[in-house]
Amino acid sequence: MTILAIGTAASDQPLDRMEITRRDTGPHDVRIDIAFCGICHSDIHTARGEWPGTMYPCVPGHEIVGRVAEVGAHVTSHKVGDLVGVGCIVDSCQHCEECADGAENYCDNMVGTYNAPTDDRPGHTLGSYAKGVVVHERYVLKITHPEEQLAAVAPLLCAGITTYSPLRHWKVGPGMKVGVVGIGGLGHMGLKLAHAMGAHVVAFTTSDSKREAAKALGADEVVLSRNADELAAHAKSFDFILNTVAAPHDLDAFLTLLKRDGTMTLVGAPASPHPSPNVFNFIMKRRSLAGSMIGGIPETQEMLDFCTNHGIVSDIEMIRADEIEPAYDRMVKGDVKYRFVMDIATLG
Ligand code: NAP
Ligand code: ZN
Repeated sequence: MTILAIGTAASDQPLDRMEITRRDTGPHDVRIDIAFCGICHSDIHTARGEWPGTMYPCVPGHEIVGRVAEVGAHVTSHKVGDLVGVGCIVDSCQHCEECADGAENYCDNMVGTYNAPTDDRPGHTLGSYAKGVVVHERYVLKITHPEEQLAAVAPLLCAGITTYSPLRHWKVGPGMKVGVVGIGGLGHMGLKLAHAMGAHVVAFTTSDSKREAAKALGADEVVLSRNADELAAHAKSFDFILNTVAAPHDLDAFLTLLKRDGTMTLVGAPASPHPSPNVFNFIMKRRSLAGSMIGGIPETQEMLDFCTNHGIVSDIEMIRADEIEPAYDRMVKGDVKYRFVMDIATLG
């Protein structure tokens, strides 16, 4: 079927309305009428060609919430009318070790919600700045929050799981001191989740304007990361640091804040590399630097349920579909509190 979307034909073209085609609903597919879509910094990296390999036309968007409009004949897990979500994954091989473990995010044949090769037209996946989407039931999540929170749930589908998964993997909990670097869409979820898991949480921000706000999000302390004295006061004290920054920066400034055996995990994915960290900062305290990519489907459902149980949603600024370009420009400047969400009803 043909539907309206917001996308771009080239890296130097603004995003605008376009018509796209979705496949017919197959036996295992769920067709979703999209209500809201969160705006992730990965959308900007991709649409503007900052990461290599963007296929055009490009329709970004992988923080989907909406209602089931149609299900295929063999679908058992969802029914018409259900509130559902879809994140960054719309398919995977379904039989490798990663898929069997529910770690579809690490399947070599994972199909991203946008910019991944597919048999569907136009040969690569098109994301969710769009009226609807058709997805295999395995990759469709159940929304357990109250319906009035639906827009603020959308960012959980990427920003939420991308921060939840490493916090869980590195066993963040009571008695641990945890840093979150960069208080944007991912970072503000990192603060909320690490706080809910019982850690002592420190926010690192370059924005003075976020100092007080970060405390309301769950930070016990806030550090202006461009102030060397404020950083030095936390030297060798962290068990774990989650780094969400979307631009290259000095990793040593944060590695030296880890105590013995501490780990800093990078989830931010800047288009150009960070300066190489100093090897002595690893050797001296047996520190680790790691990375993490979104999360698997069962863990995404676990995260949604965790957020429902703890009353956690994203702090959002709602935008109309035709406000996407100014929203991108504000995100690049770190000027969003804390996630833009597109109201798909305004796309017409
Ligand atoms: P975002 O909302 O734009 O937030 C990024 C934050 O980083 C900014 O708000 C700002 O926070 C800080 N920052 C930006 N530029 C900076 C600079 N030059 N120096 C220091 N700090 C800077 O972005 P997002 O949606 O959270 O995404 C963050 C990154 O994660 C992006 O690269 C995105 O592609 C990546 N990502 C990765 C995964 C994954 O699976 N690993 C998933 C989703 C997104 P302050 O104002 O507090 O300094
Ligand atoms: Zn994302």
